[in-house]
Amino acid sequence: MKAFGFNLQKTRTFFIDTRTEPDRTLSRKVPSFRQCMFCGSCAGTCSANSHTPFNILRYNLLFRHGMQEEIADALDACMLCGKCSIVCPRGVNTRAMIMEMRNELQATNDHA
Ligand code: SF4
Ligand code: SF4
Repeated sequence: MKAFGFNLQKTRTFFIDTRTEPDRTLSRKVPSFRQCMFCGSCAGTCSANSHTPFNILRYNLLFRHGMQEEIADALDACMLCGKCSIVCPRGVNTRAMIMEMRNELQATNDHA
């Protein structure tokens, strides 16, 4: 086949209104989690994002849509500094959100 300099990728489309079990669980433990409007302020101000590819907004989305395997190790880069919580316009408790994501992923790995 002729090489055009790019490859077709598997679709990354997901439906924003579909709620997964990890999404429900996290919402129960950190209710403000559902207030996120994906503005990106947290990622824009993140200390870890300044020095690494860490992107809390992306991980938030992946977690909601059941794609935890992609963020299992990445979340360790968060230093829990809390800057993201300070700038969040919707009052999302982002540090608690990250801690619960880590707990969920740890529990999943322990049962695997
Ligand atoms: S700053 Fe708050 S509302 Fe904006 S993407 Fe981050 S968690 Fe969501
Ligand atoms: S608590 Fe974590 S995600 Fe939030 S700004 Fe600090 S390093 Fe980034």
